Amino acid sequence: MHKFNRRSLFTLFGSTLSTGVLTKKGFGQSSLKANADYDYIIVGSGAGGGPLAVNLSIAGFKVLLLEAGTDQGDKSVYQVPALHPQSTEDSEMAWDFFVDHFSSAAKNEQDEKHVAGQGILYPRAGTLGGCTAHNAMITIYPLAKDWDQLAEDIGDETYNAATMRKYFSLLENAEYTDNPERKTGWLPVNLPLSSPAQLLGESAIIASLFSAWRKFRADGPNSDSALGSLLKLIRSSDVNDESFATERPEGLIMIPTATSSEGKRYSTRDHLLANQNKNLTIRTSALVSKVLFDESGEAPEAIGVEYIVGDKIYQAAKSPNASLGKTNQVYAKHEVILAGGTFNTPQILMNSGIGPENELKRFEDSRYKVILNREGVGRNLQDRYEVGIVSEAKYGVGIADGCTFKGDANDPCYKEWQRGDGPYSSSGGLIGFFKKSKQSVIEPDLFIFLVPTDFHGYFPGYSQVIAQSRDKLTWAVLKSHTDNHAGTVTLKDTNPLSRPSINFKFYEEGSNPESKDLEAMLDGIEFVRTINSNATTTLDIFDISAGLPEGSAGFEHPNIAETIPGPAFKKRDKLREWVRRNSWGHHACGTCKMGKESDPLAVVNSKFEVIGTKSLRIVDASVFPRIPGYFIASSIYTMSERASDEILQTRGLRRRVEV
Ligand SMILES: Cc1cc2nc3c(=O)[nH]c(=O)nc-3n(C[C@H](O)[C@H](O)[C@H](O)COP(=O)(O)OP(=O)(O)OC[C@H]3O[C@@H](n4cnc5c(N)ncnc54)[C@H](O)[C@@H]3O)c2cc1C
Repeated sequence: MHKFNRRSLFTLFGSTLSTGVLTKKGFGQSSLKANADYDYIIVGSGAGGGPLAVNLSIAGFKVLLLEAGTDQGDKSVYQVPALHPQSTEDSEMAWDFFVDHFSSAAKNEQDEKHVAGQGILYPRAGTLGGCTAHNAMITIYPLAKDWDQLAEDIGDETYNAATMRKYFSLLENAEYTDNPERKTGWLPVNLPLSSPAQLLGESAIIASLFSAWRKFRADGPNSDSALGSLLKLIRSSDVNDESFATERPEGLIMIPTATSSEGKRYSTRDHLLANQNKNLTIRTSALVSKVLFDESGEAPEAIGVEYIVGDKIYQAAKSPNASLGKTNQVYAKHEVILAGGTFNTPQILMNSGIGPENELKRFEDSRYKVILNREGVGRNLQDRYEVGIVSEAKYGVGIADGCTFKGDANDPCYKEWQRGDGPYSSSGGLIGFFKKSKQSVIEPDLFIFLVPTDFHGYFPGYSQVIAQSRDKLTWAVLKSHTDNHAGTVTLKDTNPLSRPSINFKFYEEGSNPESKDLEAMLDGIEFVRTINSNATTTLDIFDISAGLPEGSAGFEHPNIAETIPGPAFKKRDKLREWVRRNSWGHHACGTCKMGKESDPLAVVNSKFEVIGTKSLRIVDASVFPRIPGYFIASSIYTMSERASDEILQTRGLRRRVEV
């Protein structure tokens, strides 16, 4: 049973409220709601909040979108796919969270990326567009089974794969296909502009890809047109085709990205600006500190939010600004919808008095009260595991030679990109492959992709390492799903400007210490090592030179030698220890999970409504009970489209997709 605590009365209506709670009837809450300027308030403009704000405003509702960050969309680091690492460290966009992977400080410190006194960097974006404004834009639709599993977990059959695919059609615009049914949505998805042959015209990269291809195909390349046929094959493997969702084969694919036909990033920022209309008000530099409730009814009813005005006032910002602007309250006729992301949505809820009561009680004082016990808030945090296997190559990773990664007039690669050419139209991961860690696994549980630089995780200055690295290439090994749901987001204090404590409880600390995640990662790394070794030693059996693009220097044996983790970690036992301590993730989700109302850890029901409240929903990555697919953004977009329909239906409007 939920427990509703009553909040004491405020003495003066209209004064700045110190908690998120309005109490007794008669103080005018119902009139605040009835007379509100907006129908909906949406908090956060990322993958969850952005599409929702567009849909509700186009449907005729007055929408206020509150975003803590500012618009940085004119910057080259925002627009240029290859500069996405720079965008994650941009002084105006970055929200740096420092997280723990374990409860033990000693274990955390063994991670080479650990920053003393802080933790391990987890980049997020506090800007218009949220993390879609700095992410790698990789757009890979999840497996059909992800949706079917969600439907089962939440007890709502209408989330089945066939129905959710219709929601994906509302957003997908696969410009690289000829299929008109795949071009019905708002999100342009493209393959990199430049010819892959140009991007791959480097010995080490070609050798790595041929070597990978031969692992999947016994009849690997052996003719003059080897390169051409490899590229054709990869291009024809359209990972977002519906058939790939039901049956995902192992093998190489070209990685689609959310980019315009001119090769520019397309994020929810662009979607919002392209759909500006009289019903949509976007207010940036507005950090929501809490939800305001009317507590006089049976369940707390969200009637508005309190927000603080100011640029870079959240402490995750780089050089946070200590001078705060005004604190305002704003009210919504219909609902408040939180879309602050996996770390911030639970923080806002807990700051508003909703969360695990036992944990929040310690903060109670005259200014803060727990109003609703919801055990699941901030629980169930999960992520994929990822590592980078970095090698040095004697010849041929010169793809970015001459590029400064500054994206200015002196950057020759930026100029090339402006002409629609060159290496900057790729976000780095051009080609990857799906792989089963063991043949007994039903779907590929690993996605492994090649990045022509040194990428071994996130730490302050990592984007500089990427920019300056020469003759390095990385196979990034990513474990798709996990059984580990043990991570937590908890409040350090009730200051809305503080970052919460985040602990992922990796591997042995996880909810399923026997999980196969760690062994699968090791299998993936060993596979990569075979590819690298074959690329160096056995490629003379085919005539690669004959297939090279015109004008290239000819194939030289690249002599690929692993530098990270390196030869000291050759044996599986040593490697296991290294993976345990050095993995990372960047698809955090699950901290306000969707579930059956009878599930004590569920935070929202299948209509995205916060259980035990009225007029409050959550639409972002935090709602997934299990991490979906291989890359999460397309799943969040799909859920945002779905949530839009749930809200339209609540207001008696017709759904766009019948369920
Ligand atoms: C480095 C990196 C690379 C990635 N690359 C990919 C990729 O290639 N493909 C992929 O599928 N996924 C990728 N992801 C993940 C993906 O981008 C995110 O999971 C996704 O954007 C999350 O969506 P969201 O709506 O939950 O939150 P976000 O997109 O983070 O949006 C939350 C928004 O809420 C705002 N906000 C937060 N708190 C408040 C507050 N109190 N008041 C007002 N506003 C607030 C934030 O400023 C932000 O704009 C990447 C993530 C990272 C970190």
